[in-house]
Amino acid sequence: MEIKMKLPLPRRKRTPPSPSESPACGRAWIELDRRALAANLDALRSLLPPGCQLMPAVKANAYGHGDILIARELNRLGVRFFCTACAREGAALRRAGIRGEILVLGRTSPAQFPLLTRFRLTQTVSDASCGEELNSYGRPVKVHIKVDTGMHRLGEDYRRPERIAALFNLPHLKITGIYTHLCTADGRGDEDRAFVLAQERAFRQVLSYLRGRGLSWGKAHLLASYGLLFFPQLGGDLARTGIALYGLLSRREDLSGCPVPLSPVLSLKARIALVRTLEAGEGAGYGLAYRAPSRRRIAVLTIGYADGLPRSLSQGRGYVLIGGRRAPIVGNICMDQTLVDVTEIPEAKAGDTAVLIGACGAGRLTAYDMAEASGTITNEILSRLGPRLERILL
Ligand SMILES: *Cc1c(COP(=O)(O)O)cnc(C)c1O
Repeated sequence: MEIKMKLPLPRRKRTPPSPSESPACGRAWIELDRRALAANLDALRSLLPPGCQLMPAVKANAYGHGDILIARELNRLGVRFFCTACAREGAALRRAGIRGEILVLGRTSPAQFPLLTRFRLTQTVSDASCGEELNSYGRPVKVHIKVDTGMHRLGEDYRRPERIAALFNLPHLKITGIYTHLCTADGRGDEDRAFVLAQERAFRQVLSYLRGRGLSWGKAHLLASYGLLFFPQLGGDLARTGIALYGLLSRREDLSGCPVPLSPVLSLKARIALVRTLEAGEGAGYGLAYRAPSRRRIAVLTIGYADGLPRSLSQGRGYVLIGGRRAPIVGNICMDQTLVDVTEIPEAKAGDTAVLIGACGAGRLTAYDMAEASGTITNEILSRLGPRLERILL
């Protein structure tokens, strides 16, 4: 028989974590700025129409920020509504103790209906077949009805309000909300604007149809970030803000005319694993895609495309900050590592921190810079930041 011996645990001295030297931050990590999050929350709250509350979108790991850290902090700041893309995301938040209503925006497969009841999630119902499928689960589930007013993604067609009304007859569906989603609120053209207003009219039309039949739907909502920033007069009971709460818009140029200041919450950092010197003509990385044009000092960073760093930033298209100065990415970004040229930063050494998004001395790189250099929007850059990154709230 095996005898288990109890060994005394070594006592560890606790030192207060300093951001870049924290032992928790070994390889590559995300720092979340608590004050920026609170400032964005205040800024967005200042725009809310009367009676409207924020329902932050914390889907996709809170746009890569870390959904539990963000939702906990928002709970602490009085937020009582959240939305996620799927039931599993909602369940993970509940397991972490997140309070309030959690609306699942996407479709849930019958196999995952138990998550809805067990974790008290609110499910979006997009049409009659979704509604009947969920009703036949046979347990009471809170739902918000989704109305398609022109985006043609999810939702029942606003021109078939009788189908929407029929959902109220399904005995196991507890209807606590109804919503639609605007698809051109980020556009500045007259047509974009006209389409937003047409979507709103279509949504109101459905609400008056239901009202006319004595049906009550609880909370009605249609604004996401761009809606709240640029069309707050459209009102509603909830505003499902995602990107703006994280202190960004999808594109830098959209900031012109933004009615409130937004502060980016996330910084992305990585360690220098080592610094080496290449002689003129020597190559580095896969395919030796980089060739040193002269004697160069190259730093190896412990972050790669598996962490969400777009591989399209390879070969000089992206930069990092080391000691406040820009170092270009050279060669091809690898799955777990990235090479940068630090010839102009002689003090760079193994163990130092490189900033990929955020401020460093007098320098700053933003998610806009990264999005522009890789041909996408900030939402994609952020939401693809991977689970291997450590996340800390400062
Ligand atoms: C993602 C999403 C949101 C949040 O959008 P942002 O533009 O990031 O504010 C709101 N509503 C729905 C239905 C969504 O899918």
